[in-house]
Amino acid sequence: ATMMLSACGGREATETDPGGEATAGGFETGSLIGVSLPQKTSENWVLAESLFNDGLTEAGYEADVQFANSGASEQQNQIQSMITKGAKVIIVGAVDGSQLGAQVQQAKDAGITVIAYDRLLLNTAAVDYYVAFDPYKVGELQGQALLDGLAERKGEAPYNIELIAGSPDDANTANFFNGAMSVLQPKIDDGTLEIPSGQVAMDQVATQGWKAENVQRRMDTILSGNYSGDTTLDGVLSPNDTLARAALTSAASAGADTPVVTGQDSEVESVKSILAGEQYMTIYKDTRELVNQSIAMVDALQTGAEPEINDTESYDNGAKVVPAYNLEPVVVTEANAREVYADDPILQSELG
Ligand code: BGC
Repeated sequence: ATMMLSACGGREATETDPGGEATAGGFETGSLIGVSLPQKTSENWVLAESLFNDGLTEAGYEADVQFANSGASEQQNQIQSMITKGAKVIIVGAVDGSQLGAQVQQAKDAGITVIAYDRLLLNTAAVDYYVAFDPYKVGELQGQALLDGLAERKGEAPYNIELIAGSPDDANTANFFNGAMSVLQPKIDDGTLEIPSGQVAMDQVATQGWKAENVQRRMDTILSGNYSGDTTLDGVLSPNDTLARAALTSAASAGADTPVVTGQDSEVESVKSILAGEQYMTIYKDTRELVNQSIAMVDALQTGAEPEINDTESYDNGAKVVPAYNLEPVVVTEANAREVYADDPILQSELG
């Protein structure tokens, strides 16, 4: 049984897009391409900035890459100004996927193609394409890895775990969490997993702004209130590396044994932690692939062609099923880390 809500960015298709005609004709080389990124809540966003600047410039476009550091209203203004400046394509990593409907519609009305990058844009028919590492799949991989890690490191079931979700405004958050819960819920139901805090609802487990300090505070409270005596924390479902490290810090300062903690993003500190046998796993979503795929879409649009897509079913945003280019997320543990990162220049230089 899936737990997805189509109006909240669930990925299950209910119908296909009847309109279809997403693209205007081509446009001149050298045209302005806008890239509106959210806050720098994880390393992948920082990396995307330089990759977009370099990649778009090399491909002959004028790049306008910006962060919405102060949040959704800054991003609304930013997109507005990209429209005014005459961008031909606007690529958006939304702070809040449900707050950009008006801007995206304006872009559409001005003949601009809008590509949702990594995070889906919700409840608008004006978004043309989506490029992402399948976020529901990411969640499933995290849920399965948590079970694997518990069996590997914590002996016999039952296991005590706690759940962490991402920021509630991020359209990926529900998909990460629902994907993971599709794997974990049956194990909660059959008693393999126990959740001593009792916190399972999204409003209890979400982490506003993807902020590490919010996880640390919540986990400190959970540990002191629910984990005395024989009750040990065996595992934590964390949606990304920044929050995984916060959970590990909290467990360490409570004097607990290292729990099995999931992550995502392959951030340098987390990869080091995995190789040191601490954080159990992460997900590799090579930002170079995501940016290159987005720029390949721009190139197609520039010539007046249809961009390549490989998924016309998964991403119902509440107003349409958004045609997508789906990339495959990869599970990384201590066992395969060096192999997975063999071609990644940053991780190679950091890990030596
Ligand atoms: C991205 C994750 C990232 C998180 C926080 C999500 O939308 O998909 O990779 O960890 O945002 O920045």
